[in-house]
Amino acid sequence: MKKHILDLSLSEFTKEIELLGLPKFRAAQIWDWVYNKHVFSFAKMTSLPQVMLPILEQTFSIFIPEIEAVSESKTDKSFKFLLKAEDGKLFEAILMIASAERATVCVSCMVGCPLKCKFCATGSEVTFARKLSAAEILSQIFIAQKYALDNKLASKITNIVFMGMGEPFLNIPGVERAIAMLLSPDGFAMSKSRITISTAGVDANFANVINKLGVKLAVSLHFPNDALRSQFMPVNKSFPLAQLVAELKKIKLSKRETITIEYIMIDGVNDQVEHAKQLINLVGSLKVKFNLIPYNPTKMLNAKPSSDDQINKFAAFLNSKSFMVTVRRSKGIDVDGGCGQFALKRG
Ligand code: SAH
Repeated sequence: MKKHILDLSLSEFTKEIELLGLPKFRAAQIWDWVYNKHVFSFAKMTSLPQVMLPILEQTFSIFIPEIEAVSESKTDKSFKFLLKAEDGKLFEAILMIASAERATVCVSCMVGCPLKCKFCATGSEVTFARKLSAAEILSQIFIAQKYALDNKLASKITNIVFMGMGEPFLNIPGVERAIAMLLSPDGFAMSKSRITISTAGVDANFANVINKLGVKLAVSLHFPNDALRSQFMPVNKSFPLAQLVAELKKIKLSKRETITIEYIMIDGVNDQVEHAKQLINLVGSLKVKFNLIPYNPTKMLNAKPSSDDQINKFAAFLNSKSFMVTVRRSKGIDVDGGCGQFALKRG
């Protein structure tokens, strides 16, 4: 099988080029076309000799997923891309513009998701198909970046969140490789603090990975006790809250860092002050901040988001116990690009 250029580091690619008997400087040249000029076709790399094209094309893939559809939110500056992989599988990425200098890409790491959380469209409406490769993860960023530049929406991509389709810790190789290229000076040269991985917590392994990568962590905790959490998140049955919290305790944080606890607010289900109390007992002395996410309606779960009033009460209680709280007004809800609304719809 051909190796995808975006699955390789510059040094790995250079070795491959040398193995082909080509001059080493060609590797850096091709790299520049890809990473700086965003050209994804050997034939369009005008500084390469024609005779070199067949051997490059036979050895390496440089395929970038096709954009099947772009949906623009009417309420905020976010853009959902429906993308088609080489094998025809569809997945989604979101570009969120904060300002002319600040933009976030929310990337998927799988086609569908095996976790099947009841409130999440990706788990409940899409059949889990496969993991995405590092190349497919990075492609989402190239595509969003090109769109942002072409449409003069932002001058660059500043933040990446692994909060699209899929569970990052069930695709560690793909996610790790993509992050290596995001951080590498040969790649996107981003700083660790601008990358966030979100996890539902699947097993006792993620603290190690986070400590190694040094990126930020967000945890989809969502429910403050096992009975409730297991009802909505099947993964809680095999990796319950006590184990999840024990794993969070292993995460090394610098002075100013916190772990983000994501907490979905579903009307009448997990939004009472009683739940906030349980939540505080659960996290104990962990350095966390809470991100409250009003439930975005999906087809499979007949429920409503908590009222603003209830969200404010819940937030005020957490605040009164000295916790930092933000409310995530999901972006792109009207294009089904809000959290948990990724279900491969067009338009
Ligand atoms: N599997 C990872 C990555 C997905 S991130 C994880 O669970 O963290 C997507 C975020 O959106 C998660 O916090 C998820 O729980 C949340 N989410 C899913 N469905 C949602 C919905 N309908 N409304 C609001 N948030 C939702």
